[in-house]
Amino acid sequence: MIDNNNDKKASTLLAHLGSTPYLYDGAVNMPAYRASTFVLETYEEFLNCFEAPFRYGRESTPTSVAFENAIATLDNAAGSIVTSSGLAAINSTILSFVSAGDHILLPDNIYGFSRDFCTRTLSRLNVEIEYYDPMIGHEIEQKVKDNTKLIYLEAPGSLTYEVQDIDAFVQVAKKHNLITVIDNSWATPLNMQPLSLGIDISIMSATKYISGHSDMMLGVISCNEKTLNTVRDTIRQLGNCAGSEELYLGLRGLRTLDVRLERHRESGLELAKWLSTHYAVKKVLHPALPESLGHENWKKYFTNCSGVFAVVLKETDQSKITNMLNNMQIFKMGFSWGGYESLLFPEQLNPARITKPWDGDGFLMRIHAGLEDIDDLKKDLADGLERLNE
Ligand SMILES: *Cc1c(COP(=O)(O)O)cnc(C)c1O
Repeated sequence: MIDNNNDKKASTLLAHLGSTPYLYDGAVNMPAYRASTFVLETYEEFLNCFEAPFRYGRESTPTSVAFENAIATLDNAAGSIVTSSGLAAINSTILSFVSAGDHILLPDNIYGFSRDFCTRTLSRLNVEIEYYDPMIGHEIEQKVKDNTKLIYLEAPGSLTYEVQDIDAFVQVAKKHNLITVIDNSWATPLNMQPLSLGIDISIMSATKYISGHSDMMLGVISCNEKTLNTVRDTIRQLGNCAGSEELYLGLRGLRTLDVRLERHRESGLELAKWLSTHYAVKKVLHPALPESLGHENWKKYFTNCSGVFAVVLKETDQSKITNMLNNMQIFKMGFSWGGYESLLFPEQLNPARITKPWDGDGFLMRIHAGLEDIDDLKKDLADGLERLNE
């Protein structure tokens, strides 16, 4: 067990955070506590139940606390809170701070289901939502109004991978006393540390890289001192909680996160660089490539990249695209990323954009580089692109 985390490197922390083997007869992995009920021994304890470490499974179990504390350490947070999914983490966090009549600012490249929640549910509750161009930088200040409460960020943004100038948003938010929230699912705390950059709350879909095995749903919210109690209280009221098996798998995923990310990153980068020279490709959207929007911001705020990015293909003909996709050997189509297996997400419709039309002018496709051999992955994609000529 590691009890002083301050001088430990990430790989060491990942191997040991939340692990207390001598409490469990030496078993290296903490058991998945399946618990709704924690009984109290005496009436005195019952009367003081709010001081008991555990009361009810919806609030916490030893497994949820171990996972939350591990993420809080990685995120340098005052505390972290788990939820049943990444989307639940996002929605509950926003709900924690807005009331009818408030105004919030959202990036135009926000994850689609977050967008759906804001556009449909928050609007119904009379929260005024406004989208901004993710590359707006300091000019975000011109959009701040008397009733603005919160600025939401996602870096890089879903599907088009623009990276925002995080510091510009933090400065404006601090000046106007606004809450800042960021979706950090792409980078994870290993590659970007939002709270250390002055962001109030960092959210991750742990379904993606933390799990790494495409077999669970889990979300986590890391808060600074100012926001922790508010978010925790809201999550309790909403009754959101994560299953014990998912929390166990979340902890297990942490053990190999850095090794997996290294392979995802290397393969993703190699594919991105190769694709950027391929005749069938119009553009590669990968924060680590200079031609990607916000590349300078990525260099400034991120220590590294992960393995998911997008390409714009010149070909848009439906039957040719079908021929490419239906005959892939390794890359399957799927709505997720972050698992061991490579995935494609064909975004056949242009991504929803309000601030200005998306100018990709081609067929947008997300690529998640899995853990397979890079030569096999490259060949599968090369053969697929070749089929566009048939
Ligand atoms: C998948 C995803 C989410 C939602 O997470 P779930 O765990 O699937 O609910 C949120 N943000 C981003 C960027 C995602 O890719």
